[in-house]
Amino acid sequence: MPQSPGHPAGRGYLAIPGPSVMPEAVLNAMHRPAPNIYAGELPDMMPDLVADLKRVARTKGEVALYIANGHGVWEAALANVLAPGDRVLVPATGHFGTGWGGMAAALGAEVAVLDFGKSAPMDAARVAEALSSDKEHQIKAVLAVHVDTSTSVRNDIAALRSAMDATGHPALLMADCIASLGCDRFEMDAWGVDVMVTGSQKGLMVPPGMGFVFFNEKAAQVRAALPRVSSYWDWTTRAHPEDFYQYWNGTAPTQHIYGLRAALDMIHAEGMEAVWARHDLLARAIWAACETWVSEGPLRLNIANAAHRSRAVTALHLDAPLATRLRDWTEQRLGLTLGIGLGMVDRDDPAWHGHFRLGHMGHVNGHMIMGLLGGMEAGMKALEIPHGAGALSAAAAVIAEH
Ligand SMILES: *Cc1c(COP(=O)(O)O)cnc(C)c1O
Repeated sequence: MPQSPGHPAGRGYLAIPGPSVMPEAVLNAMHRPAPNIYAGELPDMMPDLVADLKRVARTKGEVALYIANGHGVWEAALANVLAPGDRVLVPATGHFGTGWGGMAAALGAEVAVLDFGKSAPMDAARVAEALSSDKEHQIKAVLAVHVDTSTSVRNDIAALRSAMDATGHPALLMADCIASLGCDRFEMDAWGVDVMVTGSQKGLMVPPGMGFVFFNEKAAQVRAALPRVSSYWDWTTRAHPEDFYQYWNGTAPTQHIYGLRAALDMIHAEGMEAVWARHDLLARAIWAACETWVSEGPLRLNIANAAHRSRAVTALHLDAPLATRLRDWTEQRLGLTLGIGLGMVDRDDPAWHGHFRLGHMGHVNGHMIMGLLGGMEAGMKALEIPHGAGALSAAAAVIAEH
């Protein structure tokens, strides 16, 4: 198997926030000749696959499947509920919130952004205020990113739902769970989410290329009332196909389906609660190390309050250009690839080289996280970046709780 760039020996670790590390079981399941797409095993796999996907999302609602990345399902979801001129509200907490809002604007929606900055969660009370002042109920949807991967903030979607309900406003609650699904607890039905989008390449541990739009009855009624929807993005037949062809509105992503089957088997064998607990433990180990390092030197966690941090990704800051130098060092010397900073500053701004992120989503365990943290500490030592002492034993103490 090819190594990471510049890596001399051993396994590399792509510790970026997606695409994530893929299990061997997923890779092996995909390594097969093209299957028949008209009859046999592949079509027969679909009912269970759909049911097991819904179990990950904790929904009894519908799911439409797409050959698409996250941006594709952003558009798919919007295309099914918005007509040009409709208003949407975007409580943004980073690059992906503004990105989804920008896509709605490009589809002709009137987008109002409530910007909560780059290092804090959204304030549900301010969203409620904006809805309350919309007396004529012109706002059709609230676009909320559960975990904004650029800032690593985690928003409280259940609290957002309660705040929306308290206003009596009928807007749909739409959630982007591309980074969070299969990592941070998410319960679509219990939390009252009307539409949820996710992709295959993060917590679901499959290569990029499949996207999923989950929707409930309320969202289905909004779709049914629209005068027209692009036939490719229309979720109706994808969620209720009469034959296998209609699940994907064309040729299915054949090998990906086998990969997803293997990944869902792993997730459900471990159990959703256990998957979330594992991500929580590993995230707390990372935070324990970072909180120790920050006691001396330039390292900073982007989200100060642990209660608002994602358990899938951690955004960090150093003084520019130290983040880029650290990423280069760990990749070239150790085969450990850390994530670039995203959405903090423009890429041509020299300060860009002060931001970076750790991906810890999906197929990760204690020794990988200890390796990630040990690699970062080795890099900081090699580059003479000052840092607090004892970070690795702080992380090990968390993992030892297990
Ligand atoms: C990764 C990600 C996206 C974009 O997904 P792509 O597959 O890169 O199009 C959108 N939103 C969030 C929260 C993400 O983490």
